[in-house]
Amino acid sequence: MKAGWFAACGLVLGSCGGGEPPAPTTPPAPPASASVRGVLTRTVEGGPVAGATLNAGGVTARSAADGSFALDLPAGEHRITVSGPGIVERTTSIRAPNGALALDAIPTGGPWTLDFYRELARNGAGGGDLQPLIPWEAEPTFYIDARPEPTTGAEIPAETIDFVREAIRITVPLLSAGRYRGERIEVTREPPADMTPGTVILRWNTAEVSEHAETANAFAYRVGGDANVVVFRHIPETWAVHHEIGHVMGLYHPLGGLRPSHMWYSGELEPPHFTEWDIFHAQAIYARPPGNKDVDVDPPGFVIGGTAAAAPTRAGPIVCSFPERPPQGH
Ligand SMILES: [Zn+2]
Repeated sequence: MKAGWFAACGLVLGSCGGGEPPAPTTPPAPPASASVRGVLTRTVEGGPVAGATLNAGGVTARSAADGSFALDLPAGEHRITVSGPGIVERTTSIRAPNGALALDAIPTGGPWTLDFYRELARNGAGGGDLQPLIPWEAEPTFYIDARPEPTTGAEIPAETIDFVREAIRITVPLLSAGRYRGERIEVTREPPADMTPGTVILRWNTAEVSEHAETANAFAYRVGGDANVVVFRHIPETWAVHHEIGHVMGLYHPLGGLRPSHMWYSGELEPPHFTEWDIFHAQAIYARPPGNKDVDVDPPGFVIGGTAAAAPTRAGPIVCSFPERPPQGH
């Protein structure tokens, strides 16, 4: 593994509290008349999770071979914990009655790597406070700023704009598990104001990047959703656009080298450069609500199929320094 390709910069962040996972208990037989019925599936890959314990305030059930479960709960909201061998424990909130509750849990083994997830999704590289997830909550509109680069006056070549457009179309659905299509793209000389909600602006400005970090090649104003701006230092460095869109979609620099990653200097040689570990863990982000915390404790106030959680604290900017050539295969 090569030494650090991307250098993370100071991120201004909120704190992160602990969860309150209750211990699983021995499940009774499924109640004859249950107010809540649902199916437990594998996050990202899909398919049933059998033999997991579901515990809501002491009322417990076990998922069947087809992932189905039933709980007899009083009407109202309940905190529920899903646990068992082979899955990452998850705590979230549900509302009873519910006849078609969809729950998922991340299987351990396979691509799932907790330490890598903490670095990639929660800015955990090198220690410090783990950040809550900030996935996009609605389809973003991307504005490619087609004005000449301000420092040199150089026009942005059409093929460069086409390359950026294609990177957006591929990367957004890839990392969001198809939740967002990446097809709202405008090439414009009149982009909206920076950080307009629902927008991502991509532009070239050597002086602006230099102000943030003398040796950086690009930066993103934030990590994650709601609004973002990506700035490239030089036009030829636009090949790193997939990496910058990774930041836009909520990914940090996994500097620990726990898995090959395009968000570090060990991605795939060909676009879109992301590794199978990048894609799996990014898609896990998009299976969870904003503010979700390590590893699978959904924030109070978020109810599956119901209300959204309060917006988490924002992080940014994140500054990226690239090698002199595109990332090499691992
Ligand atoms: Zn970066």
